[in-house]
Amino acid sequence: MSYLSRRLHLRLPEIVREYLREGENLVDRWPPERLAGYHRQALFRILTHAWEHNRFYRRKFLEAGIVPAALALPEDLHRVPLTSKEEIRGQPWVLLSVPRHQVSQIHVSTGTTGGDQIYIPHTWEDLYVRNLAPAMRRLVPVGIDDVVINALPYEMSSAGLAFHRTFQKGCGALVMPAGKGGYYSTPERTLRAARDLGATILITTPSYAVLLAEVAQEEKIVLAEIPLRFLWLTGEGCSPAFRERIEALWGHPAYFYYGSLEAGPIGIECMARGGYHLAAGHVYVEIVDPDTTRPLAPGETGEIVITELTRLASPVIRYRTGDFGYLDDAPCACGVPLWKLSLRGRVDDQIRVNGVAHSPYYLEEFLMRSPEVGNWYQFLPKSDRISIRVEPAPGVTPSEAIRQAIESRLEYETGIPVEVQFVSQVPRSGGKTLRVIHEHPDPDRG
Ligand SMILES: [Zn+2]
Repeated sequence: MSYLSRRLHLRLPEIVREYLREGENLVDRWPPERLAGYHRQALFRILTHAWEHNRFYRRKFLEAGIVPAALALPEDLHRVPLTSKEEIRGQPWVLLSVPRHQVSQIHVSTGTTGGDQIYIPHTWEDLYVRNLAPAMRRLVPVGIDDVVINALPYEMSSAGLAFHRTFQKGCGALVMPAGKGGYYSTPERTLRAARDLGATILITTPSYAVLLAEVAQEEKIVLAEIPLRFLWLTGEGCSPAFRERIEALWGHPAYFYYGSLEAGPIGIECMARGGYHLAAGHVYVEIVDPDTTRPLAPGETGEIVITELTRLASPVIRYRTGDFGYLDDAPCACGVPLWKLSLRGRVDDQIRVNGVAHSPYYLEEFLMRSPEVGNWYQFLPKSDRISIRVEPAPGVTPSEAIRQAIESRLEYETGIPVEVQFVSQVPRSGGKTLRVIHEHPDPDRG
């Protein structure tokens, strides 16, 4: 054991140490009863910590008439009030539950929605001990021989640094902090570094993976010369057809990772795909009806609600992620017993046409199956149809006949009335790519 790991091990909090004993700290191998025991104790501990050290949570618990010590967990968790983004926006210290001098790092939300920012303070232990402790070797197949190009944002965001720590300290890999289109980190330089260093893993967002592939073509950088094992995509979701396009551009498989500033890691896709195995050492995941907040059973689609289990600086308890998804308790071909989560897009991005809501991934899936269509598009929902602004695929000259053919094919396959408009260029974004542009706020949503 190295000096650092010995030191880290000594600093592990009791709940984590008890369940993550040396040599057994692989959450993805735990039998269900061990995981259930961990969840019971970890939920109790984080609720009690918030009750004892945070006024915001204490007030909410009192208003709901609950005391953590009297709850049976996880059965009574639904009695704990939900926490919304609106409650914590613009208030950096509202979740703070440790003395302020213990805070060593703060990240800021990078979402596409406007309004005040969300801040999440961390202690050093939160970042380097608790967050790296519940290891998931089979789900994070990164090792000491890997060269990782980390093309996620390092500024403000938690994404770049979180993966940096996980790969470098948690997996022992070599990590190149490329960033995502920052002042120094142009796409060209990122690609050159990937080629020159012999990168084996690229982690970035789906849209930036496409942008990098386009720049490689312009700069005559041959992607096949980069010895990648796979791409890891996060920060944005996408349809299976869009993923296939990314894999075709790069010539390597692409897997997905789901997490957030507020919750840290939430789900990790295995090589068998078909959903994200829950990062069950880090989070307890529930699905609720977004309107009634009633808990939903596996298989039922609703809003994803997260309770973070390990970090003490800013506990995140029954937090409404704003993402839609459902849980899958069926065994997975990969052998990892952790339940899986399937994502259905952001609540705010659901497209409502003629009173029916559709996931943007659903329409994207069919759009991306059209070979005449390029990789960049925007959906502009109208009350009775969806207007789609799209670039033509390379080598395709748009014509009225092509446009009409795509429209009728999409309408036939999706049942959604659409109008397609070819544009020479859809704007590229350095931040999260906006796929759905609501011209008017949805009157049905508060
Ligand atoms: Zn699996």
